[in-house]
Amino acid sequence: MTTRLFLQPGPPPQATSQSPLLTPPVGPGDLPADLPVAGPDGTRTLVDRFGRVARDLRVSLTDRCNLRCTYCMPAEGLEWMPTEQTLSDAETIRLIRIAVEKLGIRQIRFTGGEPLLRKNLEDIISATTALRTDEGETVRTALTTNGLGLDKRIVGLREAGLHRVNISLDTIDAQRYLSLTRRDRLSGVLSSIEAAVASGMQPVKVNAVVMPGVNEVDIVPLASYCLELGAQLRFIEQMPLGPREQWRRGDMVTAAQIFERLEQAFILSPAREPRGSAPAALWNATDRNNTSVTGTLGIIASVTHPFCGDCDRSRLTSDGTIRNCLFARTETPLRDIMRAGATDEELAAVWAGAMWVKKPGHGIDDEGFLQPDRPMSAIGG
Ligand code: SAM
Ligand code: SF4
Repeated sequence: MTTRLFLQPGPPPQATSQSPLLTPPVGPGDLPADLPVAGPDGTRTLVDRFGRVARDLRVSLTDRCNLRCTYCMPAEGLEWMPTEQTLSDAETIRLIRIAVEKLGIRQIRFTGGEPLLRKNLEDIISATTALRTDEGETVRTALTTNGLGLDKRIVGLREAGLHRVNISLDTIDAQRYLSLTRRDRLSGVLSSIEAAVASGMQPVKVNAVVMPGVNEVDIVPLASYCLELGAQLRFIEQMPLGPREQWRRGDMVTAAQIFERLEQAFILSPAREPRGSAPAALWNATDRNNTSVTGTLGIIASVTHPFCGDCDRSRLTSDGTIRNCLFARTETPLRDIMRAGATDEELAAVWAGAMWVKKPGHGIDDEGFLQPDRPMSAIGG
């Protein structure tokens, strides 16, 4: 009965009457004529044809990584992006400033690849937190990381102004961690999660992707570990973004199955926090065998109950392209027009045009669905 509560999908977005459907622009020169301009000084919001407004920017700082998670990267054969194609620190900060000052972005999440591998990460974060939104507010910053080395940098990152951190952990079994990530680094990640909680950052979120026959057995142990520590664990349905043979719609572990496993070990009730555009359905959880262990658990049903209708994200890849969706098949290259001398206003207009044509949903269940050409590590999760 309760499972139904979090499994309610939002209605699919409808094109608004004042924003007629347009043919997607194929390049920067093809901006729709009626692209909305929000502010009197020509500032815009990243609104799309369905009325969704992007306030959250995911910035991928590198495609490189020190793990090789099976659901994200192949074991070998993935070529790194050449350095000259990657945005410099100054270029990255310029595009973030345009997003915040001219396009209404209010939250920046740094990701990758592994963002802790980006030289000068702390400098990029402090330049970002120095920005003010059009309402005079500080930009909220967050980091999604595999946690390796975070324990030694958490204090510096907080001093740079980082507000929140999400750490990825799919198992607390050392052997499974090794086969899942192809690296023997579990203890380093656990130290980092513990250091992040000890630093006082709130909430520290832990992300776990659940894969059939791989780590379903970890669902309850992961939840117990995070509840005891005071971290907020969120389970994520695996999406078709890694090596192509890795994912089959028919045998993926669904949010409902994750919930059923959790319910055997924990008393679950819907958390009161308003969900808004947040993807996770949150549950108050209490251990059935030890009622002093309580906290919040989340389940992100990205595949079985997509939240595309509430999506408020825009994405910037480390080589400077805008993606209006994780699953987009087209990208808008800002780097090249920036390097060709485009002004801030021109870059903002192209970015707004890229978002305007965002599709209503990711279409994973559509016949003819095709994975994006880039792996998750190169898009930025
Ligand atoms: N390296 C960092 C990390 O692992 O947190 C940041 C990048 S990673 C691509 C961002 C998030 O995407 C991680 O939480 C990871 O578990 C998730 N992810 C990667 N591939 C995925 C897939 N195929 N389905 C669902 N989530 C995935
Ligand atoms: Fe690296 Fe993150 Fe991908 Fe794992 S999920 S391979 S840590 S980018």
